[in-house]
Amino acid sequence: MTHFDAQGFNTRAIHAGQTPDPTTGAVIPPLYQTTTFAQDGIGKLRNGYEYGRGTNPTRDSLQTQLAALEGGAHAFSFASGLAAEDALIRAALRPGDHIVLGNDAYGGTYRLINRVLADWGVTNSAVDMADVDAVSAAIAGGNTKMVWVETPSNPMMKITDIAAIAQLAHDASALLVVDNTFASPYLQQPLTFGADVVVHSTTKYIGGHSDASGGAVIVNDGELAEKVGFIQFAVGAVSAPMEAWLTTRGLKTLGVRMDRHSSNAATIAQWLLEQDEVENVYYPGLAKHPGHDLAAAQMKSFGGMISVTFKGGPEAAKKVAESTSVFTLAESLGGIESLMNYPSDMTHASVKGTELAVPENLIRLSVGIEDVEDLLADLEHALATLRS
Ligand SMILES: *Cc1c(COP(=O)(O)O)cnc(C)c1O
Repeated sequence: MTHFDAQGFNTRAIHAGQTPDPTTGAVIPPLYQTTTFAQDGIGKLRNGYEYGRGTNPTRDSLQTQLAALEGGAHAFSFASGLAAEDALIRAALRPGDHIVLGNDAYGGTYRLINRVLADWGVTNSAVDMADVDAVSAAIAGGNTKMVWVETPSNPMMKITDIAAIAQLAHDASALLVVDNTFASPYLQQPLTFGADVVVHSTTKYIGGHSDASGGAVIVNDGELAEKVGFIQFAVGAVSAPMEAWLTTRGLKTLGVRMDRHSSNAATIAQWLLEQDEVENVYYPGLAKHPGHDLAAAQMKSFGGMISVTFKGGPEAAKKVAESTSVFTLAESLGGIESLMNYPSDMTHASVKGTELAVPENLIRLSVGIEDVEDLLADLEHALATLRS
């Protein structure tokens, strides 16, 4: 553990791994856009740097920053969230092992586990993670080596009790993995609730500007860290220097961005709740959300993601999704700009027809950090198209 532990979140975000360049004093550590490093003699490496797939100072700076913010001992940065997940699963599991995951897990995670790693001999069960008995029953088979939680989940915004599931997983000698992409380390730090591993798509809130893809694995256990580090090096799905540099830059402002994402989303969720066309609003910040109290206990605030269903069915949902102008119709989430998504045909198209399918009258909003009055006006205009 580093001296950063004693400092506040925003101080760590700005300073962990961000020491000024020793050669020039450059306040911002340079982008080391290089694939290889000069040696001072055969095998005489400067500070251990040898070849870019193995180590790069820019990636190291991001990894130090990520570990400091999640409160973990080791962080590994990858080319995408799914590359991070693949590396973690292949580091931790062996053929015959079983994963229990949420029945509304991120579609790409389910596809990776169910269609790629299944051929590799890893089996899975998808259950309602908010139902502790269901999770317990799914673990009972004996081969479960990993339990995979997303909270809030995507796109149904279900809240899972991390500490309770950690207990169940540990009773079965399984690892608890939390995909913390939706909350970000500013709002929720799963390792403090007993999770063994945190994974991220840094493409989302951590990068925060929709301009750099990436993923991360953060762990405390040294043995597991060694295995993940080996796969990172041996398989090579590392983050490129430029992507790591952009992600580091974005991560410095995570705290202020998340505060605004959360306050804008809270205002919009309340407004949506009052609209006649709306059937249901899924936002953990609403008092009527079934996971509200748990979210309040686990999270600093409730984040920027909202899902909404419409009484007018799929047609109404699609019409709203196609009628905004400040909200951009696009996949992904977590950037400073507001995005609109129709999961059934966009982000969750790969799970259509499976038990992970999402309601067809649902849209998902990634609420950005624009002025909330402009976001409300945009949504008001889009909902008005349902009345004409
Ligand atoms: C986007 C996302 C992923 C996958 O990350 P990529 O960077 O797109 O590979 C995983 N989990 C969640 C919750 C996500 O939103």
